[in-house]
Amino acid sequence: DDRIARISSTIRIIPDFPKPGIMFQDITTMLLDPVAFKDTIDLFVERYKNKDISVVAGIVTIRGVHQTAQTAKPPAPHRTTPYNAIWNICGVEARGFIFGPPIALRIGAKFVPMRKPNRLPGAVISEEYSLEYGTDIMEMHVGAVQAGERTLVVDDLIATGGTLVAAINLLERVGAEIVECACVIELPDLKGRDRLGDKPLFVLISSN
Ligand code: 5GP
Repeated sequence: DDRIARISSTIRIIPDFPKPGIMFQDITTMLLDPVAFKDTIDLFVERYKNKDISVVAGIVTIRGVHQTAQTAKPPAPHRTTPYNAIWNICGVEARGFIFGPPIALRIGAKFVPMRKPNRLPGAVISEEYSLEYGTDIMEMHVGAVQAGERTLVVDDLIATGGTLVAAINLLERVGAEIVECACVIELPDLKGRDRLGDKPLFVLISSN
């Protein structure tokens, strides 16, 4: 697909960011090119529209929930008539928030932000994980994803895979069915794909 080469050409590499030795793949330069950005979203939409419906019953196990006064109320009612087989797009902060919502809107799925700690106002389920530059915690609102919902996890890039593993773990703890993980870029030398186990990974660009 010749769109891929064009997208690839818009990604800027910044050496030694955020620390020496890291060759940072900067996707903000792709966002400056509306054709490349649209092609990126289109490629994902073409892959994820009209997927077969499959609901898997899951047992909800929630650990590490912290409640606040304002979050004691139950979550909003969940839509029961999905108009697409992928029901959730989970975007990983922060660059997953750039690619996840336009895909979700186009395929008729809901978008669920997976965030850094203490950013979400409601009751959260959280997961600690290690990443290329240290350790972090990822959080998701309780009730945002229901057991059995077919879910796509979106981020800009997979390096070691730690971030996507944390997202998968969080989602599986609430019983979500992970359809696939989707990233614009994979750094295959870091073998993140291997850490995802049997979870499929779809990427547009592999960058050595
Ligand atoms: P991993 O957890 O797979 O080691 O790292 C992936 C996470 O770190 C993603 O959320 C991604 O946004 C961020 N990340 C790591 N390296 C890069 C990079 O070179 N470019 C960009 N854009 N993000 C990166």
